[in-house]
Amino acid sequence: MADQAEHTQDILDLARTFLKQQQELGLDGLPKLSLEVKEENAEILALPRENLETLKTQVLNCKACQLCERRSSVVFGSGHPNADIMFIGEAPGAEEDKQGIPFVGAAGQLLTRMIEAMGLQRDDVYIANVVKCRPPNNRDPLPEEIAQCEPYLIQQIEMVAPLVICTLGRFAAQTLLKTTDSMGRLRGQVFDYRGVKLVPTYHPAALLRNAQWKRPTWEDLKLVRNLYDGTEL
Ligand code: SF4
Repeated sequence: MADQAEHTQDILDLARTFLKQQQELGLDGLPKLSLEVKEENAEILALPRENLETLKTQVLNCKACQLCERRSSVVFGSGHPNADIMFIGEAPGAEEDKQGIPFVGAAGQLLTRMIEAMGLQRDDVYIANVVKCRPPNNRDPLPEEIAQCEPYLIQQIEMVAPLVICTLGRFAAQTLLKTTDSMGRLRGQVFDYRGVKLVPTYHPAALLRNAQWKRPTWEDLKLVRNLYDGTEL
């Protein structure tokens, strides 16, 4: 049974890699879809900057995109509401969907160890994803799903008001920075995101498959730590 699950996961990983390559080549073949933000989500951008709990209550009831149909939980985010460092990934996976907490599967446990290696605890930082509901088979979120969900992330960032954002994986970096550049080009640099310093690095799930990316990731995390300490501000 375990072998079968592993084999299925391998096939899904391969399919996902293939789709990502197609997207990077501009060959995704997806029909043009409306990116217009629905009225109720556009209004969220205009909400007063109250607190994360108010926003969370709204997001837990969100049905603005099709990802609401198959979710078990809405994975809003977790951590210190005024953290100086915010980690942003792509979307919840199976375990996150079950528990309603971001980064709690194998990749999440690695992220926890990475945070601890920076001399911090998980509760010291804030962790969220670009989209709050799990895409089927862990596929990349679609443009219209991002268009509906990104306003929540923007609100979260404004409310937490971190000093440094660290994006995890190509998808989160490309979404926030509105670029198609590869991770190889993006990582190791400091970008400005709405006045907040942003450092892209690899997703912990990618590190589980590609051990050679652990060293550059550690360099990126040291950069995040230095920005937080003020030695590279
Ligand atoms: S993914 Fe975001 S926009 Fe879509 S239903 Fe979930 S919370 Fe709403």
